[in-house]
Amino acid sequence: MKVLILGVNGFIGHHLTNRILETTDWSVFGMDLGDDRLGKALHNPRFHFLEGDIAINREWIEYHIKKCDVVIPLVAIATPKLYVEDPIAVYNLDFEMNLEVVKKCVKYRKRIVFPSTSEVYGACPDAEFDEDESFLCVGPIRKERWIYSCCKQLLDRVIYAYGTRGYLDFTLFRPFNWIGPRLDSLDTAKEGSSRVVTQFIAELLMKRPITLVDGGRQKRCFTYVDDGIDALMRILENRGNRCRNEIINIGNPDNECSVRELALMMREIFAGHPDHVGDGSFSEIVEVSAEIYYGKGYQDIYTRRPKIEKARRLLDWQPRVGLRESLERTIYSFLEENTAAAREMGRHST
Ligand code: UDP
Repeated sequence: MKVLILGVNGFIGHHLTNRILETTDWSVFGMDLGDDRLGKALHNPRFHFLEGDIAINREWIEYHIKKCDVVIPLVAIATPKLYVEDPIAVYNLDFEMNLEVVKKCVKYRKRIVFPSTSEVYGACPDAEFDEDESFLCVGPIRKERWIYSCCKQLLDRVIYAYGTRGYLDFTLFRPFNWIGPRLDSLDTAKEGSSRVVTQFIAELLMKRPITLVDGGRQKRCFTYVDDGIDALMRILENRGNRCRNEIINIGNPDNECSVRELALMMREIFAGHPDHVGDGSFSEIVEVSAEIYYGKGYQDIYTRRPKIEKARRLLDWQPRVGLRESLERTIYSFLEENTAAAREMGRHST
């Protein structure tokens, strides 16, 4: 099988690429702005990489949509801080650029495996979010945080309509707070614009306070990336065409915790790491209002728990990595990379 991955150097893109190359005989054609997370994939003869931009390299994209069997467009801004800072960039990239890719898949009748998001459920009151039953609930326009959710929801609806009219073979997957090595770069976290787990790792490393937005009572279900990729691989394999025109949550409802519990557990894991056991002092945990942390356009989501019966049934899958282990693996891998980067800097400066 030939797989086209746009945004191949992103968090999901590079983990997926490595898994495909390690466990199948498929070829991967990938494009991204950079290649720093791709590591050994870059030397694999079944991996074909273009350093490029979805807004510029349109001919390359069209040619490869035509050439490949399945298209996975992973290019998007997916960080809440940026939804409020630059909603127009979110719209242009997440909606317009991706719509073009969807239309090319329609033109060439190619299968698309598209990343929807758990964010589409918004402030849905259901205890567990169901792909085919739950309402998708967002806030007022002046709360610009919702632009990402709306962009993704409209794309879901467009893809669904093409699919059900027979113009497109699709699967939509909805990741629920996937975490793992190389989630976001520590540089963005140092500037304060990262997703919560990377943000807390950066604060711990810099001994800056960990900030709990609105007291940290909001809950998330953190899913270890290897579990997420297992599910995604089964979607790509698509045995018996089981995932055709389906929407599938990929998350771990057992790994639910509040952001306050997350902060405490992460600090404990960090403090237990051999490099930091003797540090003496660690980040304090403080509270901050959402308006101060994110600005006026933000509105939080208090619970976000997936129903995963459909993933279990269609994919014969279930998540395996518990919360503590997911956090340990993630934190340890960031610490290793940080130490390696510091060593490298030391070498250059001596
Ligand atoms: N959050 C926090 N402190 C931070 C960063 C995030 O309390 O330094 C909270 C944020 O308000 C949200 C949750 O952590 O309720 C998860 O945020 P994330 O950026 O990971 O994205 P989300 O799950 O909301 O899409």
